[in-house]
Amino acid sequence: MSTVPPPPADPCERAPAYVRGIAPYQPGKPISELAREMGLDEARIVKLASNENPLGLSPRARAAIEAALPELARYPDGFDLAKALSGKLGIPMDHIVLGNGSNDVLELVGGAFLAPGCSAVYSQHAFAVYPLATQARGARGIVVPARQHGHDLAAMRAAIAPETRVVFVANPNNPTGTLLTGGELEAFLRAVPGDVVVVLDEAYNEYLPAAARYDSLQWLARHRNLVITRTFSKAYGLAGLRVGYALCDPSVADLLNRVRQPFNVNNLALVAAIAALDDEPFLRASRELNQAGMAQLTAAFARLGLAWIPSFANFVTVEIPRRDGASRAGAVYQRLLRAGVIVRPVAGYALPDHLRVTIGLPEENERFLAALAAALGAS
Ligand SMILES: *Cc1c(COP(=O)(O)O)cnc(C)c1O
Repeated sequence: MSTVPPPPADPCERAPAYVRGIAPYQPGKPISELAREMGLDEARIVKLASNENPLGLSPRARAAIEAALPELARYPDGFDLAKALSGKLGIPMDHIVLGNGSNDVLELVGGAFLAPGCSAVYSQHAFAVYPLATQARGARGIVVPARQHGHDLAAMRAAIAPETRVVFVANPNNPTGTLLTGGELEAFLRAVPGDVVVVLDEAYNEYLPAAARYDSLQWLARHRNLVITRTFSKAYGLAGLRVGYALCDPSVADLLNRVRQPFNVNNLALVAAIAALDDEPFLRASRELNQAGMAQLTAAFARLGLAWIPSFANFVTVEIPRRDGASRAGAVYQRLLRAGVIVRPVAGYALPDHLRVTIGLPEENERFLAALAAALGAS
């Protein structure tokens, strides 16, 4: 009697199909990796690929980090940061949930509200974490076609199905930089069923010019289903520490806290965020540098005959014109890498002819523009 050998034991095949089906997040290429790959000097590499603050971190945040080093043997306690945010924003503490980056908070929303059989609605060209947070829970993503590269809120409202539990809206959006007005958002909130969570992701909120600002916090009182997310990674310059937060109704905050790791934000991130929150001069400098850099880049794009998506954030997404019908964005990206300039390809966001570039220091922007002009001539 012959025995059939047992099938090879493969734990991965036992993982849920919805996990195996996830397309991994593609981060911007790290400086150290490009240096290794191309034999370049790290100090000569310009990274404009992850919407990081070119000014680095606020000096007050750095001082707070240094002062907190002796405390690292202790588990963190988010109370002081929640209290500081509460005071700064005029929102009660029970409306605040801290995250290991706002990315974490987006995942918490998925963990609290999504499961197999549910769906989440988000826009084409929207932030890559929305599909990740949806698929990781076995829920279905409903992708709504964009309008002029931005969110089509009427179509998003219409796409909400009976099993939809969450709608994600990024304002400004990444990677397009498009902005919805406060009026549009408020009308959307009124139109969405009250039992569907609306995540309003305001990662770039601090960059908005006065004329584009709107007061989303006041909507919390009227809309129990609203979750506003913000981060210290962008204008506050703390991307490497991972700290962000959600503002929402206490009942929603309670659910998010149940799926949150007890110590999800570390000691250094907490003290740095408290210090950064009050560093108005740093925030102003970040905003002004960004505005000047945006003008520098877009003026050069215009001279080069390139089209770009008007952006309200700290990056701009530029179109690389095709040649003889063939996309050149990938080739231009590679040429920029060889010149030591890292930008972000956005083909994975259904923008195969665009590159996203973060606003850098004036000299970094210049390095990018020179390399871009050369790459366009050569490819
Ligand atoms: C960068 C970004 C975030 C947050 O990043 P964290 O570092 O996790 O806070 C969230 N949403 C959008 C749209 C972003 O671009």
